[in-house]
Amino acid sequence: MSFPVRAITLDLDDTVWPIAPVMVRAERVLADWLREHAPRTAERWPLPKMRELRDAVAAEHPHLAHDFTRQRLIALERMFEEAGDDVALAEPAFDAFFAARCEVEHYADSLEALDRMAAKLPLAALSNGNADLSRIGLMHVFRFQLGAREHGRAKPDASIFHAACERLGVAPGKVLHVGDDIEMDVLGAHRAGLRACWINRAGDDGVSRSWPRDDLRPDLEVPSLAALADWLDAHPDQRQGVA
Ligand SMILES: [Mg+2]
Repeated sequence: MSFPVRAITLDLDDTVWPIAPVMVRAERVLADWLREHAPRTAERWPLPKMRELRDAVAAEHPHLAHDFTRQRLIALERMFEEAGDDVALAEPAFDAFFAARCEVEHYADSLEALDRMAAKLPLAALSNGNADLSRIGLMHVFRFQLGAREHGRAKPDASIFHAACERLGVAPGKVLHVGDDIEMDVLGAHRAGLRACWINRAGDDGVSRSWPRDDLRPDLEVPSLAALADWLDAHPDQRQGVA
């Protein structure tokens, strides 16, 4: 397949680092914080109940689907209120959670691959999550970070892809969006007129997913960011847009 790539937009969670271990740890940090600063709330809201409340808050506030930060703050306020603690604790509790949420462990190939890609093409981070790349120490490889919270709509909404292309100054058809999620990343990017690269990393069992649709395929499928950097190296004409 031949197509020009002048810029890359990149998903973060499960594309640059695995998100599940980060969330498990961040929730534990939050639970520890609550035990220390608001023991009544900690007692009343063990982890499974806290998770149920987060899901309930998300269901009650579909208009906040793009804003995980706000959803979590609402859940925290409700936890403190129901336990008879000061709801103003929601903010420092969130800060403790968020600091841990930004302590990610990258996939082994991520950093080198991002450096290689950033040396050739402008990269922009495009995420529905609320990771802070400055805190994570990765901002230097990206032109900018556009999050669903800041934009007001989440992937797969076309507007967030178009906003990123506009900021990059590159037409959607010459931007390659890279991500792990079939709906949010691949189909969202495709519908918005971008090229789509599916990151299909093997699971812990060594098995990759199979593409589930016959009618539409990603423009590119790779098992890692390193493989994408290799592909870009092997297709310099496509990088220059003269393919
Ligand atoms: Mg992802």
